[in-house]
Amino acid sequence: MKLTRLRIVGFKSFVEPADFLIEPGLTGVVGPNGCGKSNLVEALRWVMGESSHKSMRASGMDDVIFAGSGNRPARNSAEVILTIDNSDRTAPAAFNDSDTLEVSRKIVRETGSTYRINGREVRARDVQLLFADAATGARSPAMVRQGQIGELIAAKPQARRRILEDAAGIAGLHTRRHEAELR
Ligand code: ATP
Ligand code: MG
Repeated sequence: MKLTRLRIVGFKSFVEPADFLIEPGLTGVVGPNGCGKSNLVEALRWVMGESSHKSMRASGMDDVIFAGSGNRPARNSAEVILTIDNSDRTAPAAFNDSDTLEVSRKIVRETGSTYRINGREVRARDVQLLFADAATGARSPAMVRQGQIGELIAAKPQARRRILEDAAGIAGLHTRRHEAELR
């Protein structure tokens, strides 16, 4: 699975729709302080099912919606759409029936988030597992937040173990075991 396109509408500082094509190879995002580089990476983590508003540097999940600035009024919703090239057919079985996957998450103020995969409404968990199985995803070590290296060094052993389990690609198994125990 390869990430090929990221569209952001009304998320954090991205008040106007932004459309990023992710070309093969290394991509760099450069710009002055406060221009939205971290917001861009947060949009990517958010569409992958991040459930912690704190790790979005927000005091509530509604705070990821554009809050207004200068003469621009606040928005009522935010949406992030991620396109994935699945031509190698490595997506989990439930979603492995097409060459392209479009994963979207939309939040409406005081209403919460809706997730879709190729237009079909799915649960947050489906999206989280899609990425957990692909050893990427919102909490995986594939995404290193600003300041995270320092946190890693200061982490308690249990927290560090989770990071190692994520790196080993077994994070999805924990969610499934937890669910099996609840049944
Ligand atoms: P640095 O180089 O300092 O790390 P950066 O490019 O990573 O900067 P970000 O942290 O992504 O910058 O962007 C910060 C900007 O995003 C701030 O100006 C902040 O006001 C704006 N911002 C964050 N959340 C919202 C929101 N909900 N609505 C509008 N603007 C927002
Ligand atoms: Mg930053």
